Amino acid sequence: MKNISRRKFLRSSAIIAATGALVTPNVACKRLFVNTKTSGSKTLSLKFSHMMHELRHTFTISGFSRDQTAAVLAEISYDGYTGYGEGGLPPYMTGQTVESSTFFLNKIDLSQFSSPFELEDILTYVDSVDSGHSCSKSAIDIALHDLIGKLLDKPLYQLWGYNREKAPDTSFTIGIDKEEVVRQKTEEAAPYNLIKVKLGVDEKTDKMLVNTIRSVTDKPIVVDANQGWKDKNFALEMINWLNERNVLLIEQPMPKNVFDEMAWVTERSPLPTFADESCQRLADVAKLHNVFSGINIKLIKCTGLREANKMIATADALGMKLMIGCTTESSCAISAAAQISPKMYFADLDGNLLISNDPFTGMKIVDGKITLNDKPGIGISRI
Ligand code: MG
Repeated sequence: MKNISRRKFLRSSAIIAATGALVTPNVACKRLFVNTKTSGSKTLSLKFSHMMHELRHTFTISGFSRDQTAAVLAEISYDGYTGYGEGGLPPYMTGQTVESSTFFLNKIDLSQFSSPFELEDILTYVDSVDSGHSCSKSAIDIALHDLIGKLLDKPLYQLWGYNREKAPDTSFTIGIDKEEVVRQKTEEAAPYNLIKVKLGVDEKTDKMLVNTIRSVTDKPIVVDANQGWKDKNFALEMINWLNERNVLLIEQPMPKNVFDEMAWVTERSPLPTFADESCQRLADVAKLHNVFSGINIKLIKCTGLREANKMIATADALGMKLMIGCTTESSCAISAAAQISPKMYFADLDGNLLISNDPFTGMKIVDGKITLNDKPGIGISRI
């Protein structure tokens, strides 16, 4: 098990402070959000800082345990308006850390562009500066979209023509834990219509987790095996077992690079299968056709909303289902992801509910359903 320690984060912060980048804990971010409209220049400028989100409960998935998650916050200003964008930096996004995002974002120069509406050119440039860094690229993408929404005084979902009434329910996620903790977390999930459970440990533990949830509620369950089932016959057996227990879908049952066996499972599976770790960016979508039933889009994987919309169009064309996921992020990243949620079969946007120090408010969950507001851009305000 790996744990991110506060000491390690503080050490990282000290290194970054020494290099001149702006590093602020969530509390100190307050002063950054006083005004969104000031007398401004028509020059694009980028500032960034880092936040450390505190988790309400230690979160365990197949391979990791953690109490905190770092995130990068981008602020892009133009003509007196400021757009905000966030990219979570969870440990499974290998190599994407506070240090690496600082290194990358210090290389970005937006002053060469005359307006945020040159979105395609700006984001092509940002993507070309260095490979990887998808979390930081997503923070920039979201901030630019938020800025454009504010300049046009419209929420993004309206600019894209998405009907907010079609936004789906979100699930509440339960990690791998002891029986009594799983029972308690299932009871805490009462306000939600869907429960997502992380499996992929071993048969006994996986069945205990599902049986424990079922001892509390009959609500539909979404299963994420996080690549945990290595054998195709075992994966199919587990899916058939889950199908008899009101499970709606199965996410990433097998390792991310296993394609032929995964196609074999999908062909025989009574439940739709979704690619998460197998599907990072737009270029992956077509390769997964007939391997999975659908894809899980996460903004920190695909570099943000612009590429996410291209993935939606591609999946639509191929007849593949769509879901949207997140990591432990604040209402900034979660409200951005919610803007495209009306296109989703299923949403897993509970990251902000899992943290105790969210510096923003935005998209709300009402009766278990994602509820988008009328505010421009990604629809957030500073708490
Ligand atoms: Mg997943």
